[in-house]
Amino acid sequence: MPRTQFTIALPDWCAVWLEERPAPCVTPQQRMRLVVELAQRHVDRQTGGPFAAAVFDATSGRVVSLGLNVVARSGLSIAHAEIVALSLAQGELQSFDLSAGASAPLQLVTSAEPCCQCYGAIHWSGIRSVVCGARASDVRQIGFDEGDKPLDWPDHLAARGIAVQQDVLREDAVGVLRRYAEQGGLIYNPAGRPAAG
Ligand SMILES: [Zn+2]
Repeated sequence: MPRTQFTIALPDWCAVWLEERPAPCVTPQQRMRLVVELAQRHVDRQTGGPFAAAVFDATSGRVVSLGLNVVARSGLSIAHAEIVALSLAQGELQSFDLSAGASAPLQLVTSAEPCCQCYGAIHWSGIRSVVCGARASDVRQIGFDEGDKPLDWPDHLAARGIAVQQDVLREDAVGVLRRYAEQGGLIYNPAGRPAAG
């Protein structure tokens, strides 16, 4: 019988970390600060790739969910930080549409610009705004493949009512990527690798 389910889970330390962290998350910068710290902790603990995300209540700043890149530990190529954060938020709100299940607009804050997969997922997630740290070019710089998406992707999302803010604490987010690369962190699906088959 083929498998009938799969599981994506955050490392156990995440819940304790969030509980202990003083979290003023009013501004996009404060929200990004939390996400970059989360990514750095993930790298320090060697629990996955150097990417983190979180879904916030855009009005109050409450953290609805966290996300980390857990591709290697889950064995699932889809397990990017944004997908994990959006999925956990949807589970929390019991709705596949975050614009319907939440009492206030929700915002996705991600330590790096979404790749082509996560860009696609954002369309139907119900998220109302996206805040990004590092650029795709920064991610490619350390060897990851980001896939292809329209160059004017923020405009495409804006046309759907999803506002995008880029380069928030970009240097700090890039610092996490660099430290991961310096540590010899796993670069899966490296850029430039010919497609299999
Ligand atoms: Zn992605």
